[in-house]
Amino acid sequence: MKAVCWFGKEDMRVESVPDPELLSPRDAIVRVTSTAICGSDLHLYGGKVPSMRKGDILGHEFMGEVVDVGRGVKNLKTGDRVVVPFPISCGSCHYCKTERYSLCDNSNPNAWMLEALNGFAGAALFGYSHMYGGYAGGQAEFVRVPYADVGPKTVPGHLSDEQVLFLTDILPTGYQAAEQCGIRSGDTVAVWGCGPVGQFAIQSALLLGAERVIAIDRFPDRLAMARDVSRASDLVNYASDTDDVVETLKQLTGGRGPDHVIDAVGMEAHGTDAYSRLESGKQVLKLQMDRATALRQAIQACGKGGTVSVPGVYAGLIDKFPMGQLFAKGCRLVGGQTHAHRYVQPLLERIERGEIDPAAIITHRMRLDEAPHGYSIFQKKQDRCIKIVLTP
Ligand SMILES: [Zn+2]
Ligand SMILES: [Zn+2]
Repeated sequence: MKAVCWFGKEDMRVESVPDPELLSPRDAIVRVTSTAICGSDLHLYGGKVPSMRKGDILGHEFMGEVVDVGRGVKNLKTGDRVVVPFPISCGSCHYCKTERYSLCDNSNPNAWMLEALNGFAGAALFGYSHMYGGYAGGQAEFVRVPYADVGPKTVPGHLSDEQVLFLTDILPTGYQAAEQCGIRSGDTVAVWGCGPVGQFAIQSALLLGAERVIAIDRFPDRLAMARDVSRASDLVNYASDTDDVVETLKQLTGGRGPDHVIDAVGMEAHGTDAYSRLESGKQVLKLQMDRATALRQAIQACGKGGTVSVPGVYAGLIDKFPMGQLFAKGCRLVGGQTHAHRYVQPLLERIERGEIDPAAIITHRMRLDEAPHGYSIFQKKQDRCIKIVLTP
């Protein structure tokens, strides 16, 4: 089969590789009909994630048709059309039983790698390095799905691939980011980063009762999508509108700051202030793993008693963390991988009711063969690229 393989920093290739096979009774094989490149795949593309090996198959947003099932999988049959959440979860550990699927204790055979880094390991992920389990991803014609009795969810035939594909990651991720803010009717929420997760965080915040959502980015086309598709009420372009985002947010909220803030940027934040330049240098010198401009601004801007919600990916230590502000304002900091399984059904229902149209954020459709080009333009934010869907 054909698959998108990692060969090094900014070196993705579409290769011919062996077809996957059932390895355990709880496996299924899925023929991929649609897959996507996630913003977090850019951390792999940029060579920022350790424990990648040449030839690793990428991709954790994919859906398709079940073509083979192990004898332990009773809830799926050949021919079923499924979406597959990006964390791999066993369904029976303490964390899975309490619906915290991305913290699964059993799915990552290389848990020791993450334990060495963080003390604990969470769930394995599809196509996301050996420290996250080393499982092949879904940017391929076929994929092996472990614990197939837990993850895959069948989707109704009247919904197109493009309408349901993002249930695998970015839609639940944006939704969880908003949900964990504990938004009350009438609240104002500020969202850093108007990439795909930011767009869904904005839409979700409004669905959950926010009256105003302030979208922050530096790319006019992303801000335009935040306004036109996601219905953000206010836009802040930090590159052209202001040199002090925190102050601007204060002014937009009568001096109070947003009730809640969402960092949908993560560890490769771009910034224009002195700290940001210092951090970029330290990251290059490996003195610091993450650049935290967005997170720092979010904490500084968050109103008293608010939630700082972090769907953006962080990997290591950061400096100049405004803990004193977080404490003094009584703010709550919450982040982590998405418990995607938990959200597939309720969000599927919202899609069916027409409350969310996930396909509206797709800017590029390509064949799987064109994935290397897709990664390149997505990383460089060329051609107004926000979301790429690949079809094998
Ligand atoms: Zn992702
Ligand atoms: Zn588990």
